[in-house]
Amino acid sequence: MRRRAAVLLATLAGAGAVALALAGGDEGAGLSTAVGGADHATAAVVAGHLPRAGAVADPRGAGAERVRYGESVGGRPLRAIRIGERSAERTVLIVGSIHGDEREGEEVVERLRRGADRFRADVWTILASNPDGARAGRRTNARGVDLNRNFPYRWRADEPPGSGYYQGPRPASEPETRALMRLIRRLDPALTIWYHQPWGQVLAPCRGSAKPEKRYARIAGMPVERCRGEELRGTVTSWEEHRDRSATAFVVELDGGELRDAEARRHARAARKLAHYGRR
Ligand SMILES: [Zn+2]
Repeated sequence: MRRRAAVLLATLAGAGAVALALAGGDEGAGLSTAVGGADHATAAVVAGHLPRAGAVADPRGAGAERVRYGESVGGRPLRAIRIGERSAERTVLIVGSIHGDEREGEEVVERLRRGADRFRADVWTILASNPDGARAGRRTNARGVDLNRNFPYRWRADEPPGSGYYQGPRPASEPETRALMRLIRRLDPALTIWYHQPWGQVLAPCRGSAKPEKRYARIAGMPVERCRGEELRGTVTSWEEHRDRSATAFVVELDGGELRDAEARRHARAARKLAHYGRR
């Protein structure tokens, strides 16, 4: 059973689209009320779980669903968009970027969002999980924190402020980190793919079969690198795999330059295949 907390559900009658806003604040606490297009909206509060298909009018035919899952230090909205199948048991999250100077993965996410094929998994996408850094072309968030060192699993203060790898003053000190934690707890994804640059490798753990990583790499035409990055502390992938031992979360390190169309196509294909591949 997937664990999901309260959501505010709004059906935007005019656009025929369905919008969801995840609860803001602490775990399971108050509801966010920020829903666009309120003129024509009928809103219903749904407690407990996200509704299955049929709970609202035409949820699948109506196109994407959007979640504003938090706000950055600089006040930019943090958004996730569902492109998958609401009723599917398997949930997948695909994140275009977390380091603001490594943004080519967003191209893959955009391509997935444009795709016409229907997913058989409940697929959620984030373009830039560090929008302030992305706007500034900088690795860190607006407070100079490397969000991918700020997660609470094996967090350690070992980099000084200004280093680019600064882990922040304490675990999960950053609003972008906490917002991602809330979103991930609620979606409870079986698989998360995080795009980075510039190593040109799919990163796989030292131990285990690394089947999903290998499969992705084969389809995308990339090498798999075992163990690299495993020693890093406070990463989101290690936090995800620690909180849910049956989940897979891995990093795709794209090449350093611009992602060519053919490459983006291969990566989108790999992500799509992986969305349908797994134990749960
Ligand atoms: Zn990175």
